[in-house]
Amino acid sequence: MRTLITGGAGFIGSHLCERFLERGHEVICVDNLITGSLSNIEHLRGHDRFTFLRHDVSHPLEIDGPLHNVLHFASPASPVDYLQYPIQTLKVGALGTHNTLGLAKAKNARFMLASTSEVYGDPEQHPQREDYWGHVNPIGPRSCYDEAKRFAEAVVMAYHRAHGVNTRIIRIFNTYGRRMRLDDGRVLPNFMGQALRGEPLTVYGDGSQTRSFCFVDDLVNGIEKLLDVEFHEPVNLGNPDEVTILQFAQEILALLGSKSRIEFKPLPQDDPKVRKPDITRARQLLGWEPLVPRSDGLRRTLDYFQQKVANS
Ligand code: NAD
Ligand code: UDP
Repeated sequence: MRTLITGGAGFIGSHLCERFLERGHEVICVDNLITGSLSNIEHLRGHDRFTFLRHDVSHPLEIDGPLHNVLHFASPASPVDYLQYPIQTLKVGALGTHNTLGLAKAKNARFMLASTSEVYGDPEQHPQREDYWGHVNPIGPRSCYDEAKRFAEAVVMAYHRAHGVNTRIIRIFNTYGRRMRLDDGRVLPNFMGQALRGEPLTVYGDGSQTRSFCFVDDLVNGIEKLLDVEFHEPVNLGNPDEVTILQFAQEILALLGSKSRIEFKPLPQDDPKVRKPDITRARQLLGWEPLVPRSDGLRRTLDYFQQKVANS
């Protein structure tokens, strides 16, 4: 099996590269390193079934030989990153998805799109099921990401319907774990970094907005299962254990035994007020559900952030 993973030098992509190597696949990791890092795949580069290709997938790519799977995970993913790179985010969601679908079609490979809970926008249905069409501001600051992913889903379905490409779409909800960037601006790296440095934890708004955090190993298990099942409509993958951001800050303070205080900052525009996946579809289709409770997952992520802060 030869599996190509775009965004393979990023947080989730690097865990996928590892998992597919473990499964015995030959892995081709394609990344332009815009938000990822070679340090995430350093330990894989000596492996004889691993290849790294530095390439921007918003431009067409050609691969010699057969391919069995194309997993398209390339995209800036944190709000801070996609606000910094709005055009690149739109291009990789639109052109990058088109190019990688073309590759999958040419190679007769399975294709998987990493979509996102952001396609639901600031949701008016809670929890979010896959048949909810979402509530997205098409011209707001987050639209470069949300609309790129919505276009990506549309072009994946079109390639499936018009060309019979064997596609999958996953809608990933907030996922965390080792290899997140300390400065990616997402809530967990921010809170961990702040608590470890003894700085105040920056809670945006009053902290009553909710998220549901999934440990990366659970996500990767779901991805693996979905690839092996014939199902072409979107599937939510995430942990339905919902928490307010204020409560999340307090959990991190307690875990670290930190005396840092909480500082309230303005809520960014269009920040979703609630988010929680309905995972009935994944449960029924894949027999999958997340197994790592937040307390365990946070503990398992702590030493990574301790090292990052020590080296920063
Ligand atoms: P990340 O930033 O760590 O990884 C993304 C990778 O894609 C990086 O290595 C980056 O350099 C690469 N990349 C970006 N544009 C590229 C391009 N044009 N060509 C080649 N490589 C490019 O982010 P992540 O959290 O690992 O997210 C991975 C995927 O999962 C993204 O598609 C994201 O939208 C999706 N996702 C993630 C989450 C989450 O909670 N982490 C939630 C929903 C969706
Ligand atoms: N957030 C926060 N403080 C921070 C970073 C984020 O309160 O330092 C909030 C943010 O406003 C949002 C939630 O935490 O409500 C999750 O933000 P993140 O950037 O991790 O991802 P999102 O789920 O919004 O894509």
